[in-house]
Amino acid sequence: MKKATLLLTALFLGAVSIFAQQFDDYFEDKTLRLDYIFAGDSATQEIFFQEASSTPQWAGRRHHLNQPLLKGNGQITVRDPQSRQVIYANSFSSLFQEWQSTEEATQVKKAFENCFQVPYPKQIVEVTISLHDIHGRVSASLTHTISPDDILIREKSSSATWEYLHIGGEPQNCIDIAILAEGYTANDQEKFHDDARRACGFLLGHEPFKSMANKFNIIAVSAESAERGVSVPRKDTWKKTAASSHYDTFYSDRYLMTTNMQDIYDQLAGVPFEHIIVLANTSLYGGGGIYNSINVTTSDHPTARQVLVHEFGHSFGGLGDEYFYDDQYSSMYPADKEPWEPNLTTLVDFSSKWADMMDKKTAVPTPPIKYKDYNARNTFTFLQLNEKQQHALIHTVGAYEGGGYQSKGVYRPAMECRMKINEVEEFCPVCTRALIKMIEYYTE
Ligand SMILES: [Zn+2]
Repeated sequence: MKKATLLLTALFLGAVSIFAQQFDDYFEDKTLRLDYIFAGDSATQEIFFQEASSTPQWAGRRHHLNQPLLKGNGQITVRDPQSRQVIYANSFSSLFQEWQSTEEATQVKKAFENCFQVPYPKQIVEVTISLHDIHGRVSASLTHTISPDDILIREKSSSATWEYLHIGGEPQNCIDIAILAEGYTANDQEKFHDDARRACGFLLGHEPFKSMANKFNIIAVSAESAERGVSVPRKDTWKKTAASSHYDTFYSDRYLMTTNMQDIYDQLAGVPFEHIIVLANTSLYGGGGIYNSINVTTSDHPTARQVLVHEFGHSFGGLGDEYFYDDQYSSMYPADKEPWEPNLTTLVDFSSKWADMMDKKTAVPTPPIKYKDYNARNTFTFLQLNEKQQHALIHTVGAYEGGGYQSKGVYRPAMECRMKINEVEEFCPVCTRALIKMIEYYTE
């Protein structure tokens, strides 16, 4: 008993000492950028280190330095080699891991660029980057040391001009978002500024970001593209653009994404940012968002606002998609593992999710709310419901079967949500709480 108490005390003191870690003890006010290649196929994965570079100023968080809020599909960890203490950690997801679940990945090995920013260390550090499989187990890992005096760490700067669209406060106290121009030529820069301003308004006009706008800084970065618009492979249209984004990613029409992460980070070198929104100059429907990696969205589609906010739910909040298909039963979310996404559950560990937000009388799983002609699989009828019915579908918290692309075995918190359909004007209460927690994690 006594032994256990001592051990607990030791653990507790350990936690306190980690918690008490100060940014200045280990880091300079500068950014270390680390470039990696993730490569493999559906069954194998490897990580390769490419190079390190630096940019002035650290715009990231200065507290909770070693505690990612969400597990993500991978983590980057910085250690003090002497004490073995983790002094910085962040979680992420990657396009490579999404690709691993495609048919193509059963046929060929491919390599994907990834860039990460960590605070610039004062002493030699050990960096570990790890990828997790769908069961949450480490599937690949690479550890290497970084010496802050390494002459091959090149200081980078960008020729792109940038300006603040919204200032909530100092970069070290706020969440810093860069909106990068994609598919805007030198002659289109005025349009870019109008579009970026509008995109900024889309985000900060949407709750919970609206009420917490003073926690965000938003910067427009005017990269010039050689050609106007973006690539649409299915129409044999290829454009030379700043971020090389294109539709038809993984052969899906509306999946607008980019694989050229290094070019993007080069354009943003010197901009104080933590999150990237690539604003594509197009009116074609599409977009994509990857947790702590990138958000690609369009300027001119009528649903650009909804898509931008939805993708930001992924890229900033780590939220999962709440929609699902009839015929897809497994792949991303195995039944024996609780997903790390805060708005999806397999009920394996539901108490760690939103059980506390449910009316105690609500059954788990929760029977779907039914209205005449309304079908949660095919929600074009949502707008035909009256206001009270629409409100109930968004705000009646439960554990409704269907979510994360699977109609069986994955449960979502509300019948409808911004993370499910564009017709809904809000995040459900569970997504809203998760986003508020994330904002507070960065800023408090
Ligand atoms: Zn939701």
